[in-house]
Amino acid sequence: MPWSDISEHIADALNQPFAAQNPRPISGGDINAAYLLEDNGQAVFVKLNAASQLPMFEAEYQALLEIKAGNTIQVPAPICCGVAGSRAFIAMEYIALGAAHSNSPAQLGQQLADMHRTTADHFGWHRHNTIGTTPQCNDQGDSWLAFWRDQRIAPQLQLLAEAGYQGSVQSLGQQLLAALPQLLEGHQPAASMLHGDLWSGNYAFNRQGEPLIFDPALYYGDRETDLAMTELFGGFSPGFYDAYQAAYPLDEGHQQRKNLYNLYHILNHGNLFGGGYIRQAEQMIEGLLLS
Ligand code: ADP
Repeated sequence: MPWSDISEHIADALNQPFAAQNPRPISGGDINAAYLLEDNGQAVFVKLNAASQLPMFEAEYQALLEIKAGNTIQVPAPICCGVAGSRAFIAMEYIALGAAHSNSPAQLGQQLADMHRTTADHFGWHRHNTIGTTPQCNDQGDSWLAFWRDQRIAPQLQLLAEAGYQGSVQSLGQQLLAALPQLLEGHQPAASMLHGDLWSGNYAFNRQGEPLIFDPALYYGDRETDLAMTELFGGFSPGFYDAYQAAYPLDEGHQQRKNLYNLYHILNHGNLFGGGYIRQAEQMIEGLLLS
């Protein structure tokens, strides 16, 4: 492992001496190898992947910086990213994780609502990033419908087609794209700052029980997409939803849009893992076309 190279990058970025002693592997990630590096009382969290994955870490670095600057919810402060030897790396503040206290889920809901009140002039982001390891397009535009169609659902269908899934998922997918004007009729969301990949593995609490989020797939879009994803795999408690709803009530019709938004992640799981996710996507589309 190129630890001395990475330590030098970290020392430069922190503008203080830093030489990692015995990096400790950290479990829990989906995609990258993660480590805790410590020196001089400074604890740094580092993720490694193949050098070709540098753009993924550059996007994560910029996303963490942008969320942090919004000052609404805790994220690890990014330190630097780059290539060392055959590895791409990202280094960020290490935050020791702890247990929730009774009010922690409500704090998460309140702070996510605060983050969603941070808005941009356009949907999208100034750069592309990834969702899992799948490319995620963020071309900016003024129409939420066009964004959801052209930057989210259509590219996932295209990737499935390229992987050989030419059958019913494609014909259903085309019908769904044509039905989007009805499914999103009258809905004009703000372009909110989103986490973008808000499943239960991407939030935690620090030793004081304060929430933090990490591993964002940031873009600006309908805040309902973040809320929808929290329900897709579970792991968020009632206190979270109550506090969010009290802080920033959801628009009418959000229950109907939930499956349309979660379809993106199920299509993505189809692209990443195949199998049952393709059938699940087809069933979701069939349900949406009937609604
Ligand atoms: P991956 O990109 O591989 O999915 P994550 O960014 O989700 O990896 O991080 C993996 C795990 O490491 C998380 O589930 C969390 O428990 C822990 N973690 C993430 N960021 C930090 C951090 N800055 N400080 C301490 N632990 C972290």
